[in-house]
Amino acid sequence: MGNTKHSGPIKLPKKPDPKLWVSKVPFGLGKVKPHHIRDTMKVVWENKDNIPYATRILTQGVCDGCALGVSGLKDQTLTGPHVCTTRLNVLRLNTMGAIKESILHSDIDHLRKMNSTELRKLGRVPYPLIRKPGDRKFSRISWDVAMDVIAEKIKKIDPKQAAFYTTSRGITNEVYYTLAKVSRFLGINNVDNASRICHSPSKTALSRSIGVGASTCNYKDWIGTDVLVFWGSVAANNQPVSTKYMYAAKRKGTKIIIINPYHEPAMDKYWVPSIAESALFGTKIADDFYQVNIGGDIAFMHGIMKHWFEMEEKSPGSALNLEFIDAHVNGLDELREKVMSYQWNQLEKSSGISKERMHELAELLAKSSSAVFVWSMGLTQHRFGTDNISQVANLALLRGFLGKEYCGLMPIRGHSGVQGSAEMGADPFSLPGGGLDENNRKRLEAIWGFEIPEWQGDIVGVSLENSLLPAEHERKLKLYYMSGGNFLETMPDPNFVAESMENIDIRVHQDIILNTSTLLDAKEAVLVLPAMTRYEQPGGGTSTSTERMVYFSPEIKGPRVGEARTEWEIYVDLAKRVKPEHKDLIDFKDAYEIRKEIAKTAPNYDGIQNLKNKGDLFQWGGAWLCEDGICNTTDGKGNLIAVEIPELRKPEGHFYVTTRRGKQFNSMIYDEKDPFNAADRYDLLLNEVDAKELNIKEGDAIVAFNQYGTFTGRAKFVPVKTGNVEVHWPEGNSLIPKGVYEDYAGIPEYNTAVIVEKAETYYAHKDTKYVEKRVEELEVEPH
Ligand code: SF4
Repeated sequence: MGNTKHSGPIKLPKKPDPKLWVSKVPFGLGKVKPHHIRDTMKVVWENKDNIPYATRILTQGVCDGCALGVSGLKDQTLTGPHVCTTRLNVLRLNTMGAIKESILHSDIDHLRKMNSTELRKLGRVPYPLIRKPGDRKFSRISWDVAMDVIAEKIKKIDPKQAAFYTTSRGITNEVYYTLAKVSRFLGINNVDNASRICHSPSKTALSRSIGVGASTCNYKDWIGTDVLVFWGSVAANNQPVSTKYMYAAKRKGTKIIIINPYHEPAMDKYWVPSIAESALFGTKIADDFYQVNIGGDIAFMHGIMKHWFEMEEKSPGSALNLEFIDAHVNGLDELREKVMSYQWNQLEKSSGISKERMHELAELLAKSSSAVFVWSMGLTQHRFGTDNISQVANLALLRGFLGKEYCGLMPIRGHSGVQGSAEMGADPFSLPGGGLDENNRKRLEAIWGFEIPEWQGDIVGVSLENSLLPAEHERKLKLYYMSGGNFLETMPDPNFVAESMENIDIRVHQDIILNTSTLLDAKEAVLVLPAMTRYEQPGGGTSTSTERMVYFSPEIKGPRVGEARTEWEIYVDLAKRVKPEHKDLIDFKDAYEIRKEIAKTAPNYDGIQNLKNKGDLFQWGGAWLCEDGICNTTDGKGNLIAVEIPELRKPEGHFYVTTRRGKQFNSMIYDEKDPFNAADRYDLLLNEVDAKELNIKEGDAIVAFNQYGTFTGRAKFVPVKTGNVEVHWPEGNSLIPKGVYEDYAGIPEYNTAVIVEKAETYYAHKDTKYVEKRVEELEVEPH
């Protein structure tokens, strides 16, 4: 934690800098690029029935898109307007009316013909619904009946047989907190959230390396740092306004390095719409790209560190910040021994980066006095995600890039609620204000006035697996209560997910819209509960950005949809019905009362109780966590973590496959074509060199397959690292193994090995056991 306060937004330079231009041709005419003006006009058209409300949301609310964080149109990094097409696209979720009754109550098979985009466009869920086995349609029920059905089920089953889940889009800290408290009040520790499938390793790794699981610095530190590294993050696509900060950084001479298997066009050049010069002529963002193998990051980081240790042998102090290490870091000898035990050829093979290129980046970082490391799912979504992040922390600790201006570690979040969810205790390893350790539990029990169950709760993937246990099993999942989320499209192996979800007695979907998961059957009943958006909730709500800014989003006047209720209030209602004799222990009068309690239970959030007006905010932990190198660990020192290079086990003739995002916001698709590279959702991105070897031409129908499933699409040639291919998420989930979790943080593995063939070859041999034989050869996955 630090004492220095964030110093507020700065101005962009007024004069243009033609050196950064992509081209002198205005608006990137003739280039494949997003059309921001056209996209904005489309959003205006979509919201035409509710323009004044849409405008109020944009100018008064806190963005419910990604976690870059903005209140109204102002952020804390740069002066000037902050808005992007992601925010504009999700806007419609807040302004649309209810689903037409004739459609809502149509035959379930009619609804099932729609994909999630079509279902989303139908409108909001207006009142509670139920569908039992044999019912062809959803029926309307009262809130009272709905809540009683759920409460009665909870009373009947063992708490270990129930689970809660919450998404991260639009959910406020108040809702997370109430869920964390209500679930423990009901004796249920199976509570998890969407950050499990994106950033759980970031929190786990940073906690073990520096004692705190959050970004240590600010976006402002990008602007003027010597080196800004994006590792496995396509921030330009997923947090679009970050490109404005990148532009500002370039103007201050910052070098931007991108590490990714695919030379992502959005991170190379960008036309920032809110900066006239950039909107007209584009901005060259990346100074250098390192195309690493999928899963080769640990070897790459070992290569950087190995070169540093070699430099130190020749000339002490030439690579490491010895003074910083001496005062603030543990574990140097162990790390050195591990890193030096690897030969260069091992590191080159695993990373796919040559020794010379690893030297280059190592030397750039060694001669820099500051650097910020930003990462995302390219590093986290591996079965060794926590180890990946620990190595990034190693790089920062060895160079002393921590706890001061222009330096830091930043897991950039994709959902507006991801940062707050764990800090509020809505996951199986956290409670508000800390972990599950006895001290924190006892402290909370004293405040809450009830006992917190001690058994270890399950992560979302394991809860789904538990639904297939025998009925009498202690952990057989019988009730799954989800706020938002669409597991069918976000978790690996959709067939398995469908089977699991349908094997649960009662499934509750608390949501604003229907999605494909909502339409699955359940053994006793599927209930759909209409939730309010964050802008409708009385008393407003708060959300925490990647840089730990806690923003207040007020209730915004406008139309309300049917019987939708505030999410925290629904949880409290449920808790009171299950345990009416203790209802006083779980009641909240209003959102303000929740914030007052959060300030007590989560000490970092002291200050949240003062947020009540539009624009109110504070940053927990000060501008820099670990300020002056003092970490939040027991001895105040950062821990270097030595790890093995993962065994990737890719047999000859196979590719690694990973997933990427196109024009979408998490699993919500906004366009079938990616505006940055013109790829369709079902294109398989591969390198032309690999394609030639397989005699595949651009546009050919291809099949990628392994023992988990098949993906049929078309070949698209892009500059992706040879030996690696990419498919869009969630369409490519059929290739991803289920039940493979990262050891420390439980994130599912989203990468695997596949064979790629022309569709005609694949289908010609499909009936001759040829495929089965090839599949058998694919015993490549661990666990
Ligand atoms: S970059 Fe993120 S926080 Fe900013 S407007 Fe876009 S979606 Fe919202």
